[in-house]
Amino acid sequence: MPNVPFLDLKAQQQRIAADLRRRLDAVLAHCQFVLGPEVAELEEALAAFCGAQHCVAVSSGTDALQIALMAEGIGRGDAIFLPAFTYTATAEVPLVLGARPVFVDVDPGTFQIDPAHLEARIAGVKQAGRLRPRALIGVDLFGQPANWPALSAIAAREGLFLLDDCAQSFGAALHGARLGRQADATAVSFFPSKPLGAYGDGGALFTESPARAALYRSLRTHGEGATRYEVLRAGMNARLDSLQAAVLLAKLTVFEGELYRREQIARYYDSELGDAVVIPARVPDSVSAWAIYSILLPDRSTRAHVQEALRHHDVPTAIYYPKPLHHQPAYRDHHDGTPLPVSEGLAERILALPIHPDLSEDQAKYVCAQVLEALA
Ligand SMILES: *Cc1c(COP(=O)(O)O)cnc(C)c1O
Repeated sequence: MPNVPFLDLKAQQQRIAADLRRRLDAVLAHCQFVLGPEVAELEEALAAFCGAQHCVAVSSGTDALQIALMAEGIGRGDAIFLPAFTYTATAEVPLVLGARPVFVDVDPGTFQIDPAHLEARIAGVKQAGRLRPRALIGVDLFGQPANWPALSAIAAREGLFLLDDCAQSFGAALHGARLGRQADATAVSFFPSKPLGAYGDGGALFTESPARAALYRSLRTHGEGATRYEVLRAGMNARLDSLQAAVLLAKLTVFEGELYRREQIARYYDSELGDAVVIPARVPDSVSAWAIYSILLPDRSTRAHVQEALRHHDVPTAIYYPKPLHHQPAYRDHHDGTPLPVSEGLAERILALPIHPDLSEDQAKYVCAQVLEALA
């Protein structure tokens, strides 16, 4: 029985061992541990990778989101539209800044924010008149891009700041363009389990605006000005470590190959499982970073049965997300009660299978065989 890790960071480490060691040793030699030369090199490499004008490396994906909203002065009385079916960080940041997350339902096939429901939610907030519509956070969920042409058009029409929560999906592309410049700002996470992961927390912001990039640099270092002890505004301590940048630079050299490998596994899962379960619908004309490959089972009890059967055969699975955010204790009281039936239904039926660049053909075959057997 093959041992199938949900993620295999050890195998990946072995592939990049020599380059990784060389880069880590360089940091240990110069001892500029925070915002050292590796960070500047990484920012340039990441911007080139996704075709963005500016990249500002920060301490996490969550901090990237927070800096982007702080730079717009978002706070009390502001409505921030975002999907209900996402990781908590997307909604946490507006709430921490005193703004109100307004939850929007998602597309049942691609799991991405539903532009038609977004329009209805914006109209509802305008009509109620208590909150000022200020920003829209589109999330590229599980590796696939959100519907950026639709989101951009709505944001432009409504005068909303458009933020791309690309925490899970760096490396993905839409209509031939890598994610990184589809919105006013794009936030990426380098948490170890993301497609491009560090060996600790890390993140980055991308923007086409030089003014925003300068503001992000100031905000990540306590709101500093042209010199270190000139304080222009209240900011954060959200800098990236040189060691993390060194890890990311080593991983970036193999990243395209890893994306290709993830795509191959996704296609294999599609072909083996497509007749037995609902496989993830593809966003048209896009490339996914395949952070997560999730199938849909008919109902909660079938999912529980399949998950237990897989566990019994040493196939790890995960549920992203067992509860839509508007049902979480942290957000319940901030939600206006609007039903979000697609998000609620997905939370009951969704199940993520192992997908990572070091998953072998035998392991992928074994995963599929066990899923099919559980459903037989
Ligand atoms: C992981 C994640 C974040 C937060 O990134 P961190 O680096 O863990 O702070 C934000 N949004 C989404 C959708 C995520 O998956």
